[in-house]
Amino acid sequence: MKITSVDVFDFGKCLSYDDCSPICIRINTDEGICGFGEVGLAYGNAHYAGIGMARDFSQLIVGMDPLNSEAIREKLFRQTFWGMGGGTVISSGLSAIDIALWDIKGKYYGVPVYQMLGGKTNQKLRAYASQIQFDWDLEDASLSQPEQYAEAARKAVAQGYTAVKVDPIGFSAEGIWQRTVKSPEWRTMGQLPPNVLKMVRARLQAIRDVSDTLDIIIELHAFTDTSAAIQLANYVDDLGIMYYEEPVHPLNPVSMREIKSNIKIPVASGERIYGRLGFRPFFESRALDIIQPDVCNCGGISETKKVCDMADTYDIKVQVHVCGGPISQAAALHVETVIPNFLIHEQHSYGLKEGLISTCKYDYRPDREGNLVVPELPGIGQEITQETMEKTLVCTVK
Ligand code: MG
Repeated sequence: MKITSVDVFDFGKCLSYDDCSPICIRINTDEGICGFGEVGLAYGNAHYAGIGMARDFSQLIVGMDPLNSEAIREKLFRQTFWGMGGGTVISSGLSAIDIALWDIKGKYYGVPVYQMLGGKTNQKLRAYASQIQFDWDLEDASLSQPEQYAEAARKAVAQGYTAVKVDPIGFSAEGIWQRTVKSPEWRTMGQLPPNVLKMVRARLQAIRDVSDTLDIIIELHAFTDTSAAIQLANYVDDLGIMYYEEPVHPLNPVSMREIKSNIKIPVASGERIYGRLGFRPFFESRALDIIQPDVCNCGGISETKKVCDMADTYDIKVQVHVCGGPISQAAALHVETVIPNFLIHEQHSYGLKEGLISTCKYDYRPDREGNLVVPELPGIGQEITQETMEKTLVCTVK
């Protein structure tokens, strides 16, 4: 079997969300089998770099045997000069190709990808409702008041979720998102002022009051620095927090370790750490309790599985980061069902958006108990619809 071409798709051509435009690829072969992958840059500001990366790497794999996914990864890593330099965009390009190759592999052998990775260790995958500061509904909102946070949590609980994740510091008291505007009245670094501390605690308390048994995950999006993160964790840990995500710059294991040493809440990070080489210093310094690699930017299914296995030797648990389109979700489920150190699955508020769901053939959502199961179709078990492919095709690399 040989790779004949790669199609690159920009979902931004058919979606109108402010911060969710998945970039996907389809690898085509001379045996009529094709595989789908996603470049993990659906949000933030690297969209066209992601499209370009997919094009650059696709040129190098035409003519290769798609079943030799390690040889293809090795070529892209070592023979492209920048490949070994790594980073977000390079690693996202590698990821899309690797996922699509696993999809082809599964279709070729007639089995779901998880069967080739080690089979089903986790029958059910407990999911949490992620990023409820944007509400938990069909449309996003900018929540500022504690009662709004409670209402979002109630909606998730009513759907069966037993855990939620919230960024309680991202929105100022006026509902302005920190990545958009830095407000002097809403300081999130250094020692936190009383108004910020009190509001963050009130939002978390409102969620805790919804249910004594609900697991609450705090997300900080690295809006805090070392001292603010330590101060905040010690101010709210009596509320029973499951873990504490990205409390500081995501590529700084020294700061992460300092935070972990000074708080009682387990520390999590990983959506901006790439591959085994990226995670190694966090493992060796024991800076994390939970890792959150994103299959679409960590290096694909192959590299993410290796990172998770490395984590297991350090007694570190895994919550795969999922914040893209339906291809990214399907790829994550295959890794999660296999690994023994699986902790919980991220069901992002993006996953509620009908426009995004309808770009692909299948809709995998948690059941009424808040659990997902892995797709049983050959490959990753998710495909872009014909209509979406026609609307979003950027180019075909031959
Ligand atoms: Mg995050």
